[in-house]
Amino acid sequence: MLKGKTAIITGAGRGIGRAIALQFAGHGARVVLNYRKSISQIEELLQVIKDSGGEAIAIKADVSIEEEAKLLIKEAVKEFGKLDILVNNAGINKDNLLIRMSEEEFDQVININLKGTFFCMKHAAQVMLRQRFGKIINISSVIGITGNIGQSNYAASKAGVIGMTKSVARELASRGITVNAVAPGFIRTDMTETLPDKVKEASMAAIPLGRFGDSSEVAGAVSFLASDMANYITGQVLQVDGGMIM
Ligand code: NAD
Repeated sequence: MLKGKTAIITGAGRGIGRAIALQFAGHGARVVLNYRKSISQIEELLQVIKDSGGEAIAIKADVSIEEEAKLLIKEAVKEFGKLDILVNNAGINKDNLLIRMSEEEFDQVININLKGTFFCMKHAAQVMLRQRFGKIINISSVIGITGNIGQSNYAASKAGVIGMTKSVARELASRGITVNAVAPGFIRTDMTETLPDKVKEASMAAIPLGRFGDSSEVAGAVSFLASDMANYITGQVLQVDGGMIM
């Protein structure tokens, strides 16, 4: 499905990013695993991919710093000669009610989720424009569509990702580059693990399919959008949420 393609996945060490990396490698892509801090998670993932016959390298970069995002793209292209797919998955949350939220909590979330996506797209697009081919998939969230109590910073960042996805999709379409977003609902990862039981119960009640999602189910949507099967799809937001919002 992705044979011969080269892909960068940001924040690939765990959770949804890890699942995307595993699926991409399984579909035959050569993957660049970006990480910010934890080399041990990445080393384990590199080994798993290698053991199953896949090809992967790891590149350290904090995507919220433009120079590091630029180097990530540059090193990936240097290693594999081209860049077909970029998945902007790296993201954080720093939840708080509006009146308690600090400027730092607001800025950290915007800087990683929104600006990090901007920096990676900007530098990847320069390569993709020359190639006249590319697929960018940005991980947003259903919270960017509906909003959520205690998540004004996160919702703003993820709504921003959707607006940016549609703008960049329009800018790059004439050069054969597609740009789409995937908006997961409630997926079992470290990010959601720490939520209070009350929040988990309320979320579960709102999911028609009656269960939380698995990272591999988000990866399935991302793999589709990254493949040639999605060549005529751009500027879209694909919700992977068990019907949570519709
Ligand atoms: P996670 O916390 O398990 O993983 C996030 C990864 O991003 C981590 O590996 C982390 O090191 C990395 N990261 C954070 N800041 C970074 C930076 N500045 N540079 C590079 N890497 C960085 O979270 P997850 O649940 O796997 O989430 C992945 C993406 O999916 C995020 O964008 C998140 O907002 C989004 N999402 C998750 C859910 C969910 O229910 N889990 C729902 C909707 C959207």
